[in-house]
Amino acid sequence: MLLSGKVVIVTGASRGIGRATALACAREGANVLLNYHPSYDASSGRDAAGDEALAELNATGQRAIAVAADVARPETAQLLVDAAVAEFGRLDALVANAGICEFCDLLEVTPALLTRTVEVNLLGTFYLAQAAGRRMVSQGQGGSIIAMSSISALVGGGRQTHYTPTKAGVHSLMQSCAVALGPHGIRCNSVMPGTIATDLNAKDLAAPGKAAYMRGRIPLGRLGEPADVASVCVFLASDLARYVTGASVLVDGGLFVNLQ
Ligand code: NAP
Repeated sequence: MLLSGKVVIVTGASRGIGRATALACAREGANVLLNYHPSYDASSGRDAAGDEALAELNATGQRAIAVAADVARPETAQLLVDAAVAEFGRLDALVANAGICEFCDLLEVTPALLTRTVEVNLLGTFYLAQAAGRRMVSQGQGGSIIAMSSISALVGGGRQTHYTPTKAGVHSLMQSCAVALGPHGIRCNSVMPGTIATDLNAKDLAAPGKAAYMRGRIPLGRLGEPADVASVCVFLASDLARYVTGASVLVDGGLFVNLQ
């Protein structure tokens, strides 16, 4: 149990990498606040994906709560920290994972798409790191802040020009947070997934030949799974990573070192 007794917030945890990370944290003994976007099903008035993810966490025997809120709103960060502390009494780790990536040609990107992508991916991560940092500093017992960057922070993407700068920004943000919060024993790192099969890129990967092409470029010979990224987040949240801060961990099956 790497996270026994720890309290972890995971944003964007109704699906994909966030959901797998929340589950992995619970399986390692953490109590988890899972957040997701409030995209309610009008017929039921509930968000089915959020409910399913919460049920999955509760089945581990750990305590978990779900809070639907848009991370792009500045007030959401404090709301999530307050909810975790009210329920579990403290905060030990944040996984700022929520993100959006609508594939779009540069010449077609609208101000609305650009603004929304920056607000969710970069500004949302800043607000969360700040709110979590404040709480962890006041607790005086250190902590771990993990932000979901991307291999896209390091390479270009012709249909991701509005997205890649946000992930480079997240990478840079964690480096600066590591400097700012290190004296308080708070570690700040980013994770850079390669191509992980989720809803985020399902349409892109469904294009003829695309998935096979990607597999051919990945030295480990397969696309990533959400659990591949989740286990790295668990490591970074745990005391095993006690001397790791300001780092960016590529989780890409070797894709980056094979790009030429
Ligand atoms: P996903 O399957 O589309 O899941 C995204 C999650 O984020 C969902 O739970 C979604 O909630 C939530 N979300 C979206 N906007 C939100 C908002 N404004 N406030 C709160 N929650 C929000 O995506 P994924 O592939 O797991 O990606 C997770 C993270 O990994 C993202 O930051 C992404 O950029 C990064 N990443 C992914 C890949 C990849 O290959 N998949 C590669 C590199 C980096 P709802 O379902 O309720 O909308």
